[in-house]
Amino acid sequence: MFGKILIANRGEIALRVLRACKEMGIATVAVHSTADANAMHVKLADESVCIGPPPAKDSYLNIPALLAACEITGAEAVHPGYGFLSENARFAEILIDHGVAFIGPKPEHIRVMGDKIEAKRTAKKLGIPCVPGSEGGITSDDEAIKVASEIGYPVLIKAAAGGGGRGMKVARSEDELSSALSTARSEARANFGDDAVYIEKYLGTPRHIEIQVFGDGKGNAVHLGERDCSLQRRHQKVLEEAPSPTITAEQRARIGETCAKAMRDMKYLGAGTIEFLYENGEFYFIEMNTRIQVEHPVTEAITGFDLIREQIRVAAGEALSFTQDEVVLNGHAIECRVNAEHPRTFRPSPGKIGYWHVPGGLGVRIDSAVYQGYSIPPYYDSMIGKLIVHAATREECLARLRRALNEFVVEGIETTLPLFRELVENDDIKRGAYDIHWLEHFLAEGEPGA
Ligand code: ADP
Repeated sequence: MFGKILIANRGEIALRVLRACKEMGIATVAVHSTADANAMHVKLADESVCIGPPPAKDSYLNIPALLAACEITGAEAVHPGYGFLSENARFAEILIDHGVAFIGPKPEHIRVMGDKIEAKRTAKKLGIPCVPGSEGGITSDDEAIKVASEIGYPVLIKAAAGGGGRGMKVARSEDELSSALSTARSEARANFGDDAVYIEKYLGTPRHIEIQVFGDGKGNAVHLGERDCSLQRRHQKVLEEAPSPTITAEQRARIGETCAKAMRDMKYLGAGTIEFLYENGEFYFIEMNTRIQVEHPVTEAITGFDLIREQIRVAAGEALSFTQDEVVLNGHAIECRVNAEHPRTFRPSPGKIGYWHVPGGLGVRIDSAVYQGYSIPPYYDSMIGKLIVHAATREECLARLRRALNEFVVEGIETTLPLFRELVENDDIKRGAYDIHWLEHFLAEGEPGA
């Protein structure tokens, strides 16, 4: 096992990794920008290294600075968290070349899944069902017209290098196709430095359901059931739950085994998430994330496994600590992403947290790196914490969530907590009857239940 791990991240995920390391008896190195000198992950780590000025490109994305920090501190491995360099194959390769382990998948798997066109091609080859669409990239209007008329409108044009819900354009008819294509291309070039795009059938009322997988890199892999992340705003997840209120145990076992088998065939290493859209009883692959995800705690709640610990174990060459038969889902869990944002306009609200009181009690977990008196810097993601609740049934889970949300007090900044308080009272949410567009409609309508 590793003696010392450097955590190449900030915020709640840096703290989450740090906690797992402490429990495993592993020394920790925090890295931070000058804006994060007072951050909780820095205070709680055994050692810390400043890696640059506030902008992420100069600090948390600064590979030479991170390498130097590994060298200075003698860290044997790097945990990248999510975001930042977590899906950067080059970073993983450079670390490995310098004798530092990367706590994540093999670089070639990160690379394949990082290009959405390649990812889809690979998924298809591995027997994973995909959204109907172009075989590869689309280079001309004529090609786009041909593919779109085959799969039928509306279609979605997506960036091969896309991420974070950016770089997608819907075309509802042939008239819209050419301009959607050129907009998607220029947005992809501006955002990702790569204008490769592809076409997919636009699904009208799907749910977003993703399967958590884990592999030991030697051909053994399991799945840990699904998470339902259909509550989204601008293609970004807002609330996640596990299990999905929609799918049956048979469907879970079938799609789960399809994913686990694919991971066995790839000899996948570490944690991964295979994302699907689900409509009319069918699953359609959209992408694979080769890292731990923000919403992993709902899976931890219902399986009882520590997924970060598992990532560290398999990265160190140990076997998975559980078999597929030992993955037993227990109860229901829901996570709310608490952002420092206005609850309706989602305008970021950085600043000083004047008062911070978090809920507690049975089945309530808070993953957050902020504290009373902490000033949220304006440079990074606006998520300031996650509230995760777990209970025996979905109904009890919603009751517990309502109770926990009412205990949560944050003053001095705006947060998305009021939105969640509305959502737990909503009949569609109570019934689990929502798709990926539901939240946008709800926000547009204004009042709950309107
Ligand atoms: P990103 O990497 O930017 O997050 P994804 O491919 O994971 O992109 O898609 C993000 C979200 O966009 C999905 O959860 C879903 O809400 C929507 N989306 C993606 N593909 C489709 C599609 N073919 N039809 C309808 N919605 C889609």
